[in-house]
Amino acid sequence: MKFSKKQAAILAIATIFLAKADGADLRGGVVLQFDDGWTEWRTELAPELARVGGRATGFVNNKYIANERITLDDLRALQNEFGWEIGSHTVNHHNAPRFVRQHGLDTWLRQEFDPSVDELRAAGLDVRSLVFPFNDSTPELAQAVLKKVESFRRAHRLAIAAGPCEDGALPGTSIDSTRFTPVSVMKQWVDMAHRRNELLLLYGHRVLPDSAFVTGRVVRVSPQELTVDVDVVLQPGEEYALVPDTKRRTASADPVRVSSAEGRIIRVDGGDLTRATAEGAEFLIGPSYGTRLSEFRELIEYAAGRLRFFTVSDVVDGKHRD
Ligand SMILES: [Zn+2]
Repeated sequence: MKFSKKQAAILAIATIFLAKADGADLRGGVVLQFDDGWTEWRTELAPELARVGGRATGFVNNKYIANERITLDDLRALQNEFGWEIGSHTVNHHNAPRFVRQHGLDTWLRQEFDPSVDELRAAGLDVRSLVFPFNDSTPELAQAVLKKVESFRRAHRLAIAAGPCEDGALPGTSIDSTRFTPVSVMKQWVDMAHRRNELLLLYGHRVLPDSAFVTGRVVRVSPQELTVDVDVVLQPGEEYALVPDTKRRTASADPVRVSSAEGRIIRVDGGDLTRATAEGAEFLIGPSYGTRLSEFRELIEYAAGRLRFFTVSDVVDGKHRD
């Protein structure tokens, strides 16, 4: 279902009101974050979240504003109509520690960090937080950025926390298909955060319709090849991740990248699929930086009944302790 901006805003307010009226059961919080920048944040994701009284923090690369993958108008609408926070994800998404090794910290600040924050603030966005590209930073980089913003993110396998770490970092766990976690497990995380009265901090990139993903059964497994029971057709130019068994969390540190799919044969780079799945298991293939809508919806509906939604800077301000 699609809503107009006004309908979505009214619905968001109504839903928050209802959640508050029924708020005795809400304890602990969820902090959802999305990186890079797509216009669907505004047209699809924010209305989807508003339906359950939820909001998120979006970390944008200015290069995606320059090429109009998302616009400043989209970002302002997210902030002003949907209650999102907008943070910086640098200008060009270079790996920051590597960039600093090659060109020095001052150049990184001058080319990648300052202009990103400055452009967003000049557009009326209240930028208070940063996510380093690939969540990769050094103590030197962290200290430098914290003169201008108030927090950054560190990737963590299970980010449930009472608040920011001493060095200004907030932990975050990926919900992308590259780091697949069954929704049943994510619901347990919600329960854990609720029970402990703590925060569950999750990040992704895009939430995509189920039709962007392929799923079926595994017929045969070898270390780098799966035979499956459906024809797999992948879109050229898209990077795909394979979830070898949707009942298991993707355990390896390295995501399973699909190298090719011909008919019912899926090949991957590296790893050993025989340790990750078995004949008869359900597999999933999808855009590496995407989350399937049906699972996302199940997660946020479950979370909305147990946790309050916070932005990153709400947490820095301690609003989750109110
Ligand atoms: Zn990114």
